[in-house]
Amino acid sequence: MNIYNYTIKQLEEYFLNKNEKKFKATQVFEWLYQKRVTSFDEMTNIKKEVINYLKQDFKFEDLKLLTKQEDIDVCKFLFELKDGNKIEAVLMKHDYGNSLCVSSQVGCNMGCKFCESGRLKKVRNLETGEMVLQLLKVEKELNIRISHLVLMGIGEPFDNYDNVINFIDIINTPKGIALGSRHITVSTCGIIPKIKEFIKDGKQVNLAISLHASNDKLRNELMPISKVYKLDDLIKTIKEYIKETNRRVTFEYILLKGINDKKENALELAKLLKGMNCYVNLIPYNETSHIEFKKSDQKTILNFYDTLKKNNIGVTIRREFGKKVSAACGQLRANYKEEL
Ligand code: SAH
Repeated sequence: MNIYNYTIKQLEEYFLNKNEKKFKATQVFEWLYQKRVTSFDEMTNIKKEVINYLKQDFKFEDLKLLTKQEDIDVCKFLFELKDGNKIEAVLMKHDYGNSLCVSSQVGCNMGCKFCESGRLKKVRNLETGEMVLQLLKVEKELNIRISHLVLMGIGEPFDNYDNVINFIDIINTPKGIALGSRHITVSTCGIIPKIKEFIKDGKQVNLAISLHASNDKLRNELMPISKVYKLDDLIKTIKEYIKETNRRVTFEYILLKGINDKKENALELAKLLKGMNCYVNLIPYNETSHIEFKKSDQKTILNFYDTLKKNNIGVTIRREFGKKVSAACGQLRANYKEEL
């Protein structure tokens, strides 16, 4: 088993089963995530006998870096997994720190019409350790520390719920990478039962919802998942989340030219979200060569922003990264495939 799959709790259980003190798990975590060793032999404060059975029970897996495309404010990584599948991670340099966007699945089954990732159906879920390794590899490769992490790469995180929650646990553990909960964001297209589970789990990380439309008719056309989980129910669930956690939610809204970017769309959106502790992140669409949708022009984006603002909805426009380096989710892998 890959050692990076294990949460500190799971390692504590492992050691308790071996009649060792659970503190050993903390030591292992410090070696893995603070000192960043890549073999058990380097864990010099752990006795030989323990190192020997650790070696038998665990492996140090790795990700193979296939390509890296760098721009001033962004660096995009294509990794190969042990079974040959490929995934992407994107590092964005903000003035407040380095933010990493990680993938949670190989492919995606959600089928959103505008999204490149969904052109390839889900092949499999990523293991927890394969998400952890995206972070470790990027930090090592660029010799930086990541301060923020978003689960917005390839895949639907809530369609790989348990592994994603364990991943969040590992990077959040104080004795490990110690990324603060407020610096971690998980984004979902709106899988209601999993949002409910997420409320119960009580993780203090940020939640973002990919909304992209303010009525069922349009949302059904753009996001097939919306036929299963209706907008009304989704909003009701998010209100429950806000009530239970007292946290502000982000709604992501891609502006697609002539489709969801009119004033009436903005007014309908404002009405839908009225009074909620939330804000809207408007995303200028990242055009891809395979999909017909176009990006709204700048003036339309600003008008949409103004309309929301005038109607008392908190709103930001997402900064665009790495246009030169095919930054939209799934683009790097899609292009790489075609080159082969
Ligand atoms: N499956 C998750 C996370 C993946 S994508 C989710 O749906 O939230 C992260 C965000 O990028 C989503 O809001 C997604 O809809 C959006 N996105 C997908 N393709 C895009 C593109 N070409 N340009 C801009 N945003 C895109």
